[in-house]
Amino acid sequence: MASGNNDRLSSKVLRKLARLAIESRDHAYAPYSKFYVGAALLADNGRTYTGSNVENASYGLTVCAERVAIFRAIHDGAKAIRAIAVATGHPQEKTPCGACLQVMMEFALPPMEIIISRGKKEPLSQHWSCYLPQPFKFPAVKKNY
Ligand SMILES: [Zn+2]
Repeated sequence: MASGNNDRLSSKVLRKLARLAIESRDHAYAPYSKFYVGAALLADNGRTYTGSNVENASYGLTVCAERVAIFRAIHDGAKAIRAIAVATGHPQEKTPCGACLQVMMEFALPPMEIIISRGKKEPLSQHWSCYLPQPFKFPAVKKNY
């Protein structure tokens, strides 16, 4: 369970995550859509984790870059996410899909920020609730947000 953290991350840290997300796009496996996505997150353990989308011929088995990064972090022992950056290479901002937002919410350490790359513009950083204001919550699990 994620506990609250009022420390906002510096713009330097957010830009670093954005850069790592861009670099992670190089590892995407997207032969079907050609939509290469990278993600990078800062976990509560102070470590960064990256991911890229991995497509499958059976489209439903495709996993987004954000979830790859999150699952790598949780597998490694992280408990929560402080911030996550997403890069698509598209000049316009592309937000995470609903499935990824729900998974982010599961491990969000408030005030978790989502950083979206926007081509040559400065990355956009916003609180996760801007994208998923009413996430599904299982009543038996207490969260601090
Ligand atoms: Zn997704």
